[in-house]
Amino acid sequence: MLKVDLHSHSTVSDGLLAPRQLVRYAAEQGVTVLALTDHDDVAGLAEAREEALLQDIRFITGVEISVTWRRRTIHIVGLRIDADQAELTAGLARLRESRFERARRIAAELDKIGITGSFEGAMAYASDRIISRTHFARFLIEEGHAKDMKSVFKKYLVKGKPGYVEHTWAELHEALEWIHGAGGIAVIAHPGRYDFGPTLLRELFTEFKDLGGRAVEVVSGSHSPDEFGRFADLAKAFGLLASRGSDYHGPGHSYIDMGRLAPMPASCTPVWHDWREVLEAA
Ligand code: AMP
Ligand code: MN
Ligand code: MN
Ligand code: MN
Repeated sequence: MLKVDLHSHSTVSDGLLAPRQLVRYAAEQGVTVLALTDHDDVAGLAEAREEALLQDIRFITGVEISVTWRRRTIHIVGLRIDADQAELTAGLARLRESRFERARRIAAELDKIGITGSFEGAMAYASDRIISRTHFARFLIEEGHAKDMKSVFKKYLVKGKPGYVEHTWAELHEALEWIHGAGGIAVIAHPGRYDFGPTLLRELFTEFKDLGGRAVEVVSGSHSPDEFGRFADLAKAFGLLASRGSDYHGPGHSYIDMGRLAPMPASCTPVWHDWREVLEAA
């Protein structure tokens, strides 16, 4: 049976499992086609691919790019990318660099409310490549400021709360240029997570499509069943293919366990509909 998961994270970004462990876990959960899509980095792909070969999982190279669109943060997933493509890797390196400067500002904000040492504290959870709000969240939980991931993001690190700072990520057209330059397919990640009204959402879909974007996540670990239907309809209306991914970040740090995603609505054309390696796995 085909069990496709095209959105997941490893320790290269803010996941809890190393790329190799993540692939082993996916295999245990019966996943047959897996994409690793770390935030702003492709450093885990080689290891994951190696393990996928051993586990008889069809491996799809991926990345989840942080984008600022109309002063809001959105995520664009690139699938089937050539991870050695220089413009892509240079662009991602720029984003990772900027994360360290942003982390200093987050720490300065937390200092103001008496939570000190958070930069070093967050870094202790991070790889030396990337630092994200997730790492700050783990530090804040460890220090007893919140009980779990959900509550820590409710109290800190989000707009209007201590530890939130504005940040400028890649532009939408840049992210798509990097993905397309690397031969990949661009996917709007988890549209249900953006606090957009219907007009803004349609404007995003229109602009994305005009820039050559091809797909949208319909089934996401972070979407409700209602949202599956809503985004299936929107995908159809915009002529976009549909993707499916858990957004797995590790045990206890994920919306949904791997291998537990709902099936794709029948009205959708899956983004993998013409992928040879996937059809062979079916
Ligand atoms: P960053 O890219 O540094 O802004 O961090 C974003 C990451 O934080 C996301 O990819 C999630 O892994 C995590 N995150 C953001 N909001 C939440 C939330 N409400 N609950 C749990 N994790 C969250
Ligand atoms: Mn994440
Ligand atoms: Mn995301
Ligand atoms: Mn993600």
